[in-house]
Amino acid sequence: MIDAVICTIGDELLIGQVIDTNSAKLALALEEAGIHVYRMISIGDRREEIASVLTEALREHAIVITTGGLGPTKDDITKAVLCQISGSKGMVEHPGQLEQIHQFLKNRGLDALPSNLAQAQVPDQAEVIVNRLGTAPIMVFRQVQGGGTLYALPGVPHEAVGAIPDVMADIKAHQSLDSILHKNIMVYGIAESALSERIAPWEDALPADMHLAYLPNPLTGIRLRLSIYGGNAQENEKRMETQLETLKQMLGPLVYAHQDSDLQSTVGEMLKKTGKTLSAAESCTGGEIAHLITSVPGSSAYFLGSVTSYAVAVKETVLGVPAPTIETYGVVSSQVAAAMAEGVRKLTGSDYAVSTTGLAGPAGDERNPVGTVWIGVAGPLGTRTVSYCYKNDRKRNIERFAASALNFLRLILQEEL
Ligand code: ATP
Ligand code: MG
Repeated sequence: MIDAVICTIGDELLIGQVIDTNSAKLALALEEAGIHVYRMISIGDRREEIASVLTEALREHAIVITTGGLGPTKDDITKAVLCQISGSKGMVEHPGQLEQIHQFLKNRGLDALPSNLAQAQVPDQAEVIVNRLGTAPIMVFRQVQGGGTLYALPGVPHEAVGAIPDVMADIKAHQSLDSILHKNIMVYGIAESALSERIAPWEDALPADMHLAYLPNPLTGIRLRLSIYGGNAQENEKRMETQLETLKQMLGPLVYAHQDSDLQSTVGEMLKKTGKTLSAAESCTGGEIAHLITSVPGSSAYFLGSVTSYAVAVKETVLGVPAPTIETYGVVSSQVAAAMAEGVRKLTGSDYAVSTTGLAGPAGDERNPVGTVWIGVAGPLGTRTVSYCYKNDRKRNIERFAASALNFLRLILQEEL
């Protein structure tokens, strides 16, 4: 397996002003192609540092990818360093990139300044992939000082991401990569540690060429990714299916999808297939559930709408939650969650309704600790509620409340539809 180093360049990364998203996007693409990312480095706009970090990385690794520092401003010095370490004798103009710069600026109604045109100058050892999304060229330096190949990408995130397909195609054309097969299973409703204990016997017995990764996310649960590197593709496919079948049986209803997916898509599929509709009444999640559901294309086929009933008065007047229920049980309670779901179901005429009432934080109330949520689901066969208590900050609590509500709904739909 060949490996790669990703090096992002720019002072703004080191002072925390800009979050390095380029590395993550590159790593995903490399991983997917079966290239091991050995290290990610972020460095400032300092000539000696860039030169020494890149020289060392190229000595040890087949592929080095940089982003940033190719711009027209004075702090952008990556290109000068690349000229030096690649053994180039000087800069040459790249006609294709020059044309792109003129076009790019013309489309934006801008004049081409000398600093823009200078971006078409590249070290003479560079091969250029024309950057169709901007003015900085994408440069490839092969076997730098007898070592690895360097790809220099622009820093602007959409340009860096836009360059990935070309870079991956170039890597595939020049390196012999092992075949790779990834398959995913989506799991919700169990902590990572508990999951790993539960499947330990299966995981420990996996053949040596299969690798399992736990990829957790507060909104989608845990993605279990099984990978096989190398070998015969068809055979691998079969071996993988057999392993995943065993895993699915061990996990039962914890599994909600058999490919990379999320809860809102899974719930949407179930509703669409059966022609059922959904509505929501949200207190502590403030519309997060509706947002997640409507982020799925085609959700208008089953999602009717939601009420963000944050105030007690709105719970009572719009959703018809009885005042005595709130007084007796408190606003964060099973009874109120149930009445909210039933209320919005009646209001919208949907087949199913989901509701949340809880305390996202930072404070709890006299009845419940912070992080408590009650979730209700009302449907043609009745109403059910469930409660969780999470120990995160407000933002993360809201995400987990919304995801748990979608999961509760998913489990009920699985049973009833
Ligand atoms: P330009 O031609 O626009 O100057 P460049 O290749 O010189 O491009 P930079 O000047 O380093 O790139 O960065 C351009 C923009 O992209 C800046 O807003 C910067 O904050 C952002 N950026 C740079 N590196 C990254 C990164 N690793 N992740 C996310 N954003 C980044
Ligand atoms: Mg910069």
